Amino acid sequence: MDNNQRKIWLGGNILPVNDAKINVLSPTSQFGLNVFEGIRCYWSDKKQQLYAFRLDDHFKRLHQSIKLMRMESPYSTEDLRKGFFDVIKANNYKEDIAVRQTVFVDGIGGTWNSTEPVNMFIAPISKHFTPITDKKGLRCQISSWERISDRNLSPRAKVGANYINSRMAYLEATHNGYDTALFLNNQGKVAEGPGSCFFMVRDNKLYTPPVSASILESITRDTIIRVARELLSLEVVERDIDRTELYICDEAFLCGSAMEITHIIDVDGYTVGDGKLGQITNKLSDIYYQIITGEISQYNDWLTPIY
Ligand code: PMP
Repeated sequence: MDNNQRKIWLGGNILPVNDAKINVLSPTSQFGLNVFEGIRCYWSDKKQQLYAFRLDDHFKRLHQSIKLMRMESPYSTEDLRKGFFDVIKANNYKEDIAVRQTVFVDGIGGTWNSTEPVNMFIAPISKHFTPITDKKGLRCQISSWERISDRNLSPRAKVGANYINSRMAYLEATHNGYDTALFLNNQGKVAEGPGSCFFMVRDNKLYTPPVSASILESITRDTIIRVARELLSLEVVERDIDRTELYICDEAFLCGSAMEITHIIDVDGYTVGDGKLGQITNKLSDIYYQIITGEISQYNDWLTPIY
């Protein structure tokens, strides 16, 4: 579908995307006062079905972000779910999509400390799964910018304004010729990427920073931890990671709903492993694809059929 023809849900109405407007004076427009989720749905040709991946977990995190921001949201989980279903069906998507579901502070009389009125938009867009073997791998730079922390702007809340920190790191890295950035936290330990979580492999064990290391509590991260343990019998360790471990690890990758699993081939000019897609990363990506398309029945409760 032509992205300009798609419909989005705004304030209870389903509208052509170009007609969905908000006021420039709203606190979301002026201060990034919004919380959101990026939710993926994958089309299965075999089952002629579109599956939302870990929908309830996304709604749970959205409620947590709303609570942390003290937004006076009128939306129940059932409201979130109904809008999500309605707008996907209104577009009749039968392909992989990504859905941005954003709860924001609206109105023209408010400012950065307003807690209401709270509004929502739900915007699906076509976005296809990319097999990891089609990706060239990322060259990352450790950012000179520190990741925001729980003591200033918590990365645990998925708030629009948090992404200014991501922006600084990403644009610095790409300006310097890298593909993306990796953040260290205020303790100097590895945190995450600008919009994704980090894993590395050392001696056949998988390591990832703990949820207290200035990261978003990523749903993909949780998926990987579980399947690595349950299907690959890998030891998965959640612990602080030093910068120099990145320079000597065997494999590394970033993960998230948007980027799925993407391998890292270089950090600060140090080649990761042999500079190619590693075996464990490749296996995890393969399993991830099987799970999101319903091929591994033990994880089918992570899938919500839309039609
Ligand atoms: N960290 C940040 C900062 C992100 O924006 C995202 C993407 N939502 C992630 C991690 C990955 O989270 P998830 O796996 O839930 O998409």
